[in-house]
Amino acid sequence: MAMQRWRALSRVILMLLVTAHLTTWYALGVHIVGSIGIEALFAGLSRGVINAGFIFWMLVFASAMLLGRAFCGWFCWFGGYQELVAWSIGDRFKIKMPRGVLLYLGAIPFVGLGVKIYYTWIVNWLDGMPTSFSFNLANVEPWGGQQTGVSILITLVLYGPVLMYVFGRRAWCRHLCPIGALLKIFSLVRPAKVRLISDDCLGCGRCTRICDMEIDVSGEIQRYGEVRSTNCNVCLKCIDQCPNDVIAFTFRPSDIAMSPEAAVRAERQTAKRRKLSAFDIVIALLWIGLVLTFSFAGLRQNAPQAIKALMTPGLLLVFYGLALITRKVWYKFSALKQAM
Ligand code: SF4
Ligand code: SF4
Repeated sequence: MAMQRWRALSRVILMLLVTAHLTTWYALGVHIVGSIGIEALFAGLSRGVINAGFIFWMLVFASAMLLGRAFCGWFCWFGGYQELVAWSIGDRFKIKMPRGVLLYLGAIPFVGLGVKIYYTWIVNWLDGMPTSFSFNLANVEPWGGQQTGVSILITLVLYGPVLMYVFGRRAWCRHLCPIGALLKIFSLVRPAKVRLISDDCLGCGRCTRICDMEIDVSGEIQRYGEVRSTNCNVCLKCIDQCPNDVIAFTFRPSDIAMSPEAAVRAERQTAKRRKLSAFDIVIALLWIGLVLTFSFAGLRQNAPQAIKALMTPGLLLVFYGLALITRKVWYKFSALKQAM
């Protein structure tokens, strides 16, 4: 549990830094370091300014190339908020999603990332790319968005307990976060991973069950000897939970394998996760249906910011729902063709 205390401490330090940053900017009028949000990076790139966001995100990208999505697990305040929600309402409300649906939902953040990059970066480049870069840490205001108190509240409720109720722990990080999508790309080359360091693994699956990112930890360890999923946010809960201390977060590749008995147990659990449940599918369809109703009710254009906050993730889910149905129909059609 020691690691989890360090993670909690990192979040507390982060919140203190954010408070100090906003206080100096707004209360004291000291404008030295501006926004470190991802929008500040894109604004810097489109206007040719190396600002605080630019420097901050270059450091985060470098960390992702070394350690994976450690930023998500250790420093992201919204990730911390979701863990707080999970801790306060527990797993009682979790509806298990079928693995196929989860895999499919994994592409949503990339759609979100594409939309974000287009509107905050590429659109400006269409008017002319910057020919040189200047240095100004404070060129983007830290809290310069159009959020209102109500839109923030809706965002917190929707992306916290509601999303968790439907899709499980850290649902935003797994299915919607565009920054997570970006870090996933950088983390493809990471040398540091959770790896098997001893052949005493029991195949018990405790590591899989504790993983907030819904990674099939024991299954990946059985197949590759390491966790390869780019969803791993280096929370290290699996390591804390392992009864035999056979996994570690390390830079050193290992060729240790599970015993055949443990491998059979791990495989069995992987197979269980792949099972589809009619209940899960009904919940997913209800969610998508609700979103479709919202999206086509003509509300979007004139909607206040609060309603838009509710609808944006919904639209992304609609894309996914449609793609999912298309894929299912395609498979059915291919199976029918083979049978004929
Ligand atoms: S790595 Fe540890 S927790 Fe995971 S299956 Fe093996 S013994 Fe169990
Ligand atoms: S695999 Fe382990 S370290 Fe990675 S997210 Fe899951 S529990 Fe955390």
